[in-house]
Amino acid sequence: MPGHGLEGKVALVTGGSRGIGRGIAERLGRDGAVVAVAYARDTAAAEKVVGVIRESGGTAFAVRAELGAHGDAEALWAVFDAGITAYAPAGGVDIIVNNAGIGRSSALAGLTEEDFDEVFAVNVRAPFFIVRHGLGRLRDGGRIINISSGAARIAMPEIIAYGATKGALDTFTLNLAKELGPRGITANSVAPGIVDTDVNAGWLRGNAEAEEHAASLAALGRVGQPEDIADIVAFLASDDARWVTGRVVDATGGAGL
Ligand code: NAP
Repeated sequence: MPGHGLEGKVALVTGGSRGIGRGIAERLGRDGAVVAVAYARDTAAAEKVVGVIRESGGTAFAVRAELGAHGDAEALWAVFDAGITAYAPAGGVDIIVNNAGIGRSSALAGLTEEDFDEVFAVNVRAPFFIVRHGLGRLRDGGRIINISSGAARIAMPEIIAYGATKGALDTFTLNLAKELGPRGITANSVAPGIVDTDVNAGWLRGNAEAEEHAASLAALGRVGQPEDIADIVAFLASDDARWVTGRVVDATGGAGL
């Protein structure tokens, strides 16, 4: 049975159906939170995560809502509100994890305005408006955790717009911490390095040379796994992290030291 500090809490995890978000959703579910697993397209993947959480004795439900240029945050909250009442009649949320993100980017010379708009819409606009429209639902003492990237700290001109989205997200985090501190709400970013998820599957999985190179970028000498990131998020979501706010927590295993 779960029972590790998040009993009675409700968590929304965007992009909770795959990769890092899946790891976060499953971990928060094990810790006792009711987890809303938000996703865009892959219903089977989202239902699988919901099933895993329920099998381990936890509570979860799926929230389908496309974010970014083709979606909007208010629609996500409407689906959330409809789903949460079955598990917590009062509604509301305690932990918002803005994890959904896309990597679409390129070097400056090849960057199109469409790609720029799309990556900012999903990685920046969506978290802004999920929080903006979630503020009335977010209880005092709550948590906002934004999944950033080491690319906001380490120059990677080959993905320049993506890096800029994460820089914007970190500045959003900083301001949220100041604005919401009086309500006991903390806001932090978690910045992973290279993690073994679908986004990197094409070049990383099954390619020993690429994996060796990726591992060599981290002081700890390996590629990150979703659980590495989820455990940090679980700490920030917990009461133990009540005095940490406005920070970017590096989760790269020591990249670019
Ligand atoms: P992933 O495996 O590609 O999973 C992406 C998740 O986000 C899926 O659940 C997907 O749902 C959802 N999603 C994508 N586009 C969406 C949209 N427009 N609206 C709503 N949901 C959407 O991604 P990941 O590698 O776990 O990355 C998660 C986060 O970590 C991102 O913010 C990423 O920038 C950050 N990050 C990743 C790495 C890495 O190496 N993987 C490194 C640093 C930072 P569907 O499947 O339904 O589309």
